[in-house]
Amino acid sequence: MTTMRTHSSLIDLDEDAPTSAQVDFLPGPVLLLGAPGVGKGTQAQLLMDAFGIPQISTGDLLRHHVREGTDLGRSAKLLMDQGQLVPDDLVNGMVADRLAAADVAQGYILDGFPRTEAQASWLDGALPGLQHSLPLIAVRIQVPHEALRRRITGRRSCPLCRRIYNLYTHPPQTSGICDVDQTPLTHRSDDTVEAFTERMAEYETKTAPVIEHYRLQGRFREIDGAGSLPEVEGRIITSLRDLRSAGSADVSKEARSWPS
Ligand SMILES: [Zn+2]
Repeated sequence: MTTMRTHSSLIDLDEDAPTSAQVDFLPGPVLLLGAPGVGKGTQAQLLMDAFGIPQISTGDLLRHHVREGTDLGRSAKLLMDQGQLVPDDLVNGMVADRLAAADVAQGYILDGFPRTEAQASWLDGALPGLQHSLPLIAVRIQVPHEALRRRITGRRSCPLCRRIYNLYTHPPQTSGICDVDQTPLTHRSDDTVEAFTERMAEYETKTAPVIEHYRLQGRFREIDGAGSLPEVEGRIITSLRDLRSAGSADVSKEARSWPS
């Protein structure tokens, strides 16, 4: 079985951040959604630390399988070399393989999957056969357009340790320099207003069917992404708790869809 290391912590936890002692339930499978710049990556990292669960990125999985030369990886590489998209069944196979690993027992955060309604339906069918009978729950971090634009144009990152800063909300101690390793920070050249607007529109279009899939089944929440990192994390955890307790309270529906 493949062993994927979780990323090391990208940011330092504030002293008022939730600790694992405050988290007395298992999140199970979680899909964290959010437009570019809402802080999804940072929040995923906080949740990984709080719950001790991995983040599963289809991009990482694909690179891993290609690098290791697995059957799935070779099939995917053949298609990519021909300029074709990797089809759902290959991506689904990689996800199923990853979800059989021991480290996802407490839960995990999916990143970049499911990307389509078809993938979401496949996952609903596949999960009960894996080690999770809990259905996937989805939480979207929502930030107003203008605030998001400021966040994105203010974003700077360290090319060495990948730490992410923001000139407005999380500036480095010395302007333009990483706090940890003193590497000059970089600014993505595509963080222009035009590129931002285009990415936002594309994100909304692509994500809408996936959100609708979970919303219709009562497995979706939207939280306000404004405020401090611990505040947003607190809202996410509250939503995860609500969604899990709502799921277990609805016994008849649970019994039909998710036999234990
Ligand atoms: Zn750095």
